[in-house]
Amino acid sequence: MLDLVDLGKRSFSAYRGIAPEEHIEEVLHLAERLRGARVLHLNATPYGGGVSELLRSGVALLNDLGLVADWQLIRGDQAFFQVTKRLHNGLQGAPGGFSETDKATYLAHSQLNARNLSTDYDFIVVHDPQPAALAMLADRQDARWIWRCHIDTSSPNPEAWEFLRPFLYPYDAAIFTLPEFIPPRFPIGRVAIHSPAIDPLSPKNLPLPVDLARQLLEWLGVRLSRPLVTQISRFDPWKDPLGVIAAYRRVRAHIPELQLAMVGSLALDDPEGWDIYRQIRDVTTGDNRIHIFTNLVGVGNMEVNAFQSLSDVVIQKSIREGFGLVVSEALWKGTPVVAGRAGGIPIQMPEGTGGILVDNVEECAEAVLHLLRHPQEAQCLGERGREHVRQNFLFPRLLLDELRMMDALAH
Ligand code: UDP
Repeated sequence: MLDLVDLGKRSFSAYRGIAPEEHIEEVLHLAERLRGARVLHLNATPYGGGVSELLRSGVALLNDLGLVADWQLIRGDQAFFQVTKRLHNGLQGAPGGFSETDKATYLAHSQLNARNLSTDYDFIVVHDPQPAALAMLADRQDARWIWRCHIDTSSPNPEAWEFLRPFLYPYDAAIFTLPEFIPPRFPIGRVAIHSPAIDPLSPKNLPLPVDLARQLLEWLGVRLSRPLVTQISRFDPWKDPLGVIAAYRRVRAHIPELQLAMVGSLALDDPEGWDIYRQIRDVTTGDNRIHIFTNLVGVGNMEVNAFQSLSDVVIQKSIREGFGLVVSEALWKGTPVVAGRAGGIPIQMPEGTGGILVDNVEECAEAVLHLLRHPQEAQCLGERGREHVRQNFLFPRLLLDELRMMDALAH
């Protein structure tokens, strides 16, 4: 048996009055058709990153809706996760090949995981490349297998793509965040496009009383009498943390008291995170207006909520991005965002909504400075962003997409 993640209790009816009513009604209708269906979500880590965020709310909600859903984790050692992180990077276009040893490592762990996987489900949803080989290697029984790809695979490095591609043939369906992410010569016939969503009722997104939010940040050492910009993301090169620091320093030349918070998480399946963390430390040593926080020093969901609520501007300077949940999370709190024009970010911030899209360090610095100098415009962008998120990127809409796909595969 693979590791099962404990799930909290959720009540789908609590989303009434928050998410659009038509999403709620259709979810309830489809859930009735799928009542009792057994669903397994499979991924590599229970925390750190967008996928675990989605599963923690989504799997619990499926159970409240009358399906029988589990979340299980594959296992792997350091060598396995080093290969899968390079595979992840290669699928997003990073150069680099894979040796026979890399392939053997991936296969050996996948075989072990496949042997430990119970496939007694109606639907098995496999997230990202780490567990992708299981559809080929596990005892299939009657389950419908769905591969959910969360990353930008629009122009993969051919070696990474040829490594992964053969394992995808057995899937019944695939889900991407954007149509342009479907890689060349894609072997799965049925493909759907679902954008991720945030849970407005999770501790990360619940409305936090301002006093409490202030206390949480002041306790960490942030001075709320001074302006604050923040980036929240895994320590990952695609999130361009060094670019954020460079942009911040340009803005600080104009606003000397400005603080930057870099809030990052280190995940089980992401050995690269530590290297990036050290690089950030190296370039910021002695700079007491740059705060670096991690999940390992107690920055959890409530603190992330407080940062997203109280920052003057949230930055998400991604170079490649699947979706970027952090953008919707910040907008949901009405906070304006300056973000890289990458992957799923622009659909969260259409023209005049949410903030400013940028393509490089200079544009990022200019946009942050502009929003800091024009707080009314910034507030207006943030408010429009919140409404855009409400209409498009709250959990009931994502459940609706998922239930529609299961319904189509089942009937
Ligand atoms: N996150 C967090 N603490 C951190 C950094 C990130 O809780 O220190 C969360 C963040 O709030 C978001 C998720 O991790 O919910 C990151 O998802 P996103 O889609 O932005 O990026 P990914 O990590 O999946 O590439």
